[in-house]
Amino acid sequence: MDAPLIDPFARAITYLRVSVTDRCDFRCTYCMSEHMQFLPKRELLTLEELERMCAAFVRLGVRKLRITGGEPLVRRNIMSFFEGMSQYLGGGLDELTLTTNGSQLERFAQPLRDCGVRRVNVSLDTLDPAKFRAITRWGALDKVRRGIEAAQAAGLRVKINTVALKGFNESELFDLVEWCRAGDMDLTFIEVMPMGDMGDGEPDGTGGTLRLDQYWPLEDLRARLAERYTLADLAHRTGGPARYVRLEETGQQVGFITPLTHNFCESCNRVRMTCTGQLFMCLGQEDEADLRAPLRASADDGPLEDAIRAAIARKPKGHDFDYSRQEVSGRMSRHMSHTGG
Ligand code: SAM
Ligand code: SF4
Repeated sequence: MDAPLIDPFARAITYLRVSVTDRCDFRCTYCMSEHMQFLPKRELLTLEELERMCAAFVRLGVRKLRITGGEPLVRRNIMSFFEGMSQYLGGGLDELTLTTNGSQLERFAQPLRDCGVRRVNVSLDTLDPAKFRAITRWGALDKVRRGIEAAQAAGLRVKINTVALKGFNESELFDLVEWCRAGDMDLTFIEVMPMGDMGDGEPDGTGGTLRLDQYWPLEDLRARLAERYTLADLAHRTGGPARYVRLEETGQQVGFITPLTHNFCESCNRVRMTCTGQLFMCLGQEDEADLRAPLRASADDGPLEDAIRAAIARKPKGHDFDYSRQEVSGRMSRHMSHTGG
């Protein structure tokens, strides 16, 4: 391995999240507007370029790769990319994993397992089919549930990611916890973040301002959980914005992702790459580095590696989100589907 990536605050960068497409077969209201304009195909890195890019990061010390999107499993031929990356497992790369909406898992669970994937995160915000359709606009809950079953049957460990939405899934908190316990799945709640322009004032009531109404602080959610369960804080951290507790009564692990607090920045070990090869050094900052140009400029990986090192040297200490006022300062103009959440 070449000299590892260390940022100006002495944090080793060992975790890369890669968005492989900005497209999706859902239109979750907090993530995309119904009439999303997607990038022209020529802007996207090809699957071969994505592999070259990821391989460079692995050479520079990245040990964990999480594939995301958009919906990663709707990218055509995506399995050839997973197959390509699987050869790095055990040779620098410790873990190859993905975050998915689950719609295509029925088909891809076994091929993913065959490529060395052992765990998947499936995003699911409600167990009610009508509410699922409303929040995803285009999704079908039964299909996602079949996908989860297929994943487990293939031997993949499933973690459920649930965006905490006030007035939407508040009433299902205990149902979701119980469903995950019964299915032997970990569960992580995500605080809703101010990303992208949802198109204020859409006829169906969704819009940028809705996010503030839907903001359900995980502190409140945690307090609700504590009414029924004894919560034991777990020490382990992943270098990301997640904290974990164990529910003593059931032994389950529940995570909380609060990207709007600064409680994780000091241990941040990750960067994010978009499907166009832009590297974001911090989820909450606009600064980005173009890696596509150096990748395309030369068949030799030297200039690309130099560009990656230069980008990591600009990784900021932390981010600027602030929900404390009625407007969202530090609101990001890009969508989660662009940076991959
Ligand atoms: N399509 C895949 C999925 O839904 O899992 C992967 C991409 S999605 C952008 C990754 C994660 O970001 C999902 O768990 C989703 O719920 C979450 N997400 C999207 N928009 C969000 C927002 N505004 N605030 C918090 N989480 C968000
Ligand atoms: Fe698609 Fe995931 Fe965004 Fe939902 S959260 S629209 S599934 S990318």
